[in-house]
Amino acid sequence: MMSEHCAELEVKHLCKYFPAGRKKVLHAVDDVSFRIEKGQTLGIVGESGCGKTTCGKTSIGLLSRTSGEVLFRGVDIHSMSKQERFELTGHVQMVFQDPYASLDPHQLVYDIIAEGIRNHKRAKNREEEKQMVLELLDMVGLRPEHASRNVHEFSGGQRQRIGIARALSVDPDFLFCDEPVSALDVSIQAQIINLLIRLKKQRGLTMMFIAHDLSVVRHISDNIAVMYLGNMIEYSPAADLYKHPYHPYTEALLSAIPIADPDLAQQRKPIILEGDAPSPVDPPEGCGFCDRCSKRMNICRKKRPELREIENGHMVACHLYNEIEIKEEKKTNEV
Ligand code: SF4
Repeated sequence: MMSEHCAELEVKHLCKYFPAGRKKVLHAVDDVSFRIEKGQTLGIVGESGCGKTTCGKTSIGLLSRTSGEVLFRGVDIHSMSKQERFELTGHVQMVFQDPYASLDPHQLVYDIIAEGIRNHKRAKNREEEKQMVLELLDMVGLRPEHASRNVHEFSGGQRQRIGIARALSVDPDFLFCDEPVSALDVSIQAQIINLLIRLKKQRGLTMMFIAHDLSVVRHISDNIAVMYLGNMIEYSPAADLYKHPYHPYTEALLSAIPIADPDLAQQRKPIILEGDAPSPVDPPEGCGFCDRCSKRMNICRKKRPELREIENGHMVACHLYNEIEIKEEKKTNEV
């Protein structure tokens, strides 16, 4: 399965459509491409309904694709046999959004964590299995006595720690974290993110981390993709995105992040987006952000902007950064 020159995960022109009645089609993910190198984290951010979770689930094979390719270490996930899919679960695991719904309330914590160890035959005997479970509990900040308790005895943050231990029980290389902190109190969110950052470093994990808020992915991501209406509209090394967002939608998302410094906070004007995103059922021909964009031009309604690199590794899908289209726009305005 290994190939030296392959990215850990490479997604090429991925589309995921759902039937939406009367010959209509919901474009949940529309021509999305990205790579995640080994040991890196890609944060994917956007409003509810932008397609980020569908993109993530299709990228690890939890949902079938409509078209495009998803390569894990160079092998197309969607063309794998049943046995290869099972082997893939030993490499790729998921941390779920809702720590209350994603854990069986009738199981003991021990069994929840031991299940992956058993399925993948990682332990030689019961003693070794027990040792592994206790190590995993310790790794996520829980105590040995927690193993014999039921899930309902734990808080949301502790449940998410159990969910992370379960994901790590097969010793994966890749974690798909689907909004893992959005159901938790703000005070607990930072603890879980810090835990994931530590585990990433300790175990050399590669991650895809979904969130609806740019402040959540800031410290954990090496690169960040912003999604809107099923499209990737900006992709950048994380630090660059916060310093210099190009897309008007990313600017608006960043302006909504609270700033601790009261002087800086006073200087910054939040950008209030008007209206809602259009329906992903038969999306508009031009830029999907057109109706909410204060910088829109005539061309924006007619032509969908393509994702283009405008700085080292920083890509944006917006006509504002395409000189040819700006010239055409000026000509149209002069006529
Ligand atoms: Fe705004 Fe046009 Fe850029 Fe879309 S392409 S974000 S409408 S300027």
